[in-house]
Amino acid sequence: MARMDAEVAVVGLGAWGSATLWRLAAEGVDAIGFDRFTPGHSLGSSHGGSRMFRITCLEHPGLVPLARRSRELWSQLEDSAGEQLFFPTGGLLIGPKDGHIAGGTLRASRTHDIKVRTLSARALAFRFPRHTAVPDHHMGVWEPSAGIIRPERAVQAAVRLAAEAGARVYPDTRIIAMKKVPGGVLLRTAERAVRVRQVVVTVGSWLSSLVPGLPLETLRMPITWFRPLEADRAFDLDRFPVFMRELDDGRVVWGNGAEGGFDVKLGLEERGQVSKPIDPDDSDRSVTPDDWADLSRLLPAKIPGLEPLPAKVAVCMLTRTPDGQFVIGRPGGDPRVVVAGGDNAHGFKHATGIGEALADIVRGGTTKVDLDFLAPDRFR
Ligand SMILES: Cc1cc2nc3c(=O)[nH]c(=O)nc-3n(C[C@H](O)[C@H](O)[C@H](O)COP(=O)(O)OP(=O)(O)OC[C@H]3O[C@@H](n4cnc5c(N)ncnc54)[C@H](O)[C@@H]3O)c2cc1C
Repeated sequence: MARMDAEVAVVGLGAWGSATLWRLAAEGVDAIGFDRFTPGHSLGSSHGGSRMFRITCLEHPGLVPLARRSRELWSQLEDSAGEQLFFPTGGLLIGPKDGHIAGGTLRASRTHDIKVRTLSARALAFRFPRHTAVPDHHMGVWEPSAGIIRPERAVQAAVRLAAEAGARVYPDTRIIAMKKVPGGVLLRTAERAVRVRQVVVTVGSWLSSLVPGLPLETLRMPITWFRPLEADRAFDLDRFPVFMRELDDGRVVWGNGAEGGFDVKLGLEERGQVSKPIDPDDSDRSVTPDDWADLSRLLPAKIPGLEPLPAKVAVCMLTRTPDGQFVIGRPGGDPRVVVAGGDNAHGFKHATGIGEALADIVRGGTTKVDLDFLAPDRFR
């Protein structure tokens, strides 16, 4: 058999791949990691200063145990890295009582015995004064275990720890081709070929370029930061904590208060007009008024007190699957390839748990949390 350059290659060192490389290296696996850009960059899905963490995963009951395990691992990552990455602020899920966001959160909390507190629209406005415009037939669900995570620093910390544990890391190195060969996989960069026994493909929105055949769609998703009309402590993170708010028309505004030098961060869920399918390699990253127009229009009525024009805009990408769930496992059961993608814009919080699960899959073990419902072959 030809000589292997490493046991395992992790291709793509964003949120999921960096955590995978960290867990593999920590377990003593001979691993090598590649990213086409410098880890912690702003050209994929893992940038923008903050990501919401919550246990009440209304997206699928199977994600709650993954979020719980991820929370433990976020602490472990922080301890090992010696820096705070997770900020336990608590979080608000707001909307119609029987709606997707507040209603779904309440259902998830009851099914999985997650501590939450419900707030009427009046109680919500009293405790969180910038959520005054919530109508009476809506409610708030307060999840004390929610918080925000620093995405760029988390990625960089995981890559650094992986390297310290022995992983070889190649930033700014794109894998341009991937070919299965007997007993392994041959990866090609512009300069050389690398032979490994297994590859973990965690390239986010670029997954279809290396692993065709999965029903994935990449979408553009802007992030916007707004300033208060006048100095206003009620828009600070402690009084305007991370939230998702469903409106009567089904759109969802999400965000968090000003903190750490950032203004008030807001976004509008993908059903907004600007969220159109894109080719991740052919994406115009410049922003246009389309990126904030819908959100700006609804702010005065829904979250009054903010400047109508954003102070800053960034563009992010998400990858959608037909059922809204991730894709994690071995396509076709091939022992040489593991994939993880299809984040559907709710995957950051699970990055550490997913990294551990991918490392377990690579090592031939069972995952601590059952992820069979995310198997890539469910689409066949
Ligand atoms: C606007 C927005 C808000 C979000 N908010 C939340 C939130 O609050 N909470 C939450 O849990 N989730 C949230 N998400 C989702 C979350 O950010 C993603 O699920 C997560 O970042 C996905 O990480 P990833 O590793 O799959 O992708 P990425 O971080 O994009 O990583 C993929 C990596 O692969 C690299 N790559 C690509 N092709 C190659 C190649 N050929 N060779 C080498 N490297 C390659 C890229 O450079 C990139 O670094 C949000 C997403 C968006 C877009």
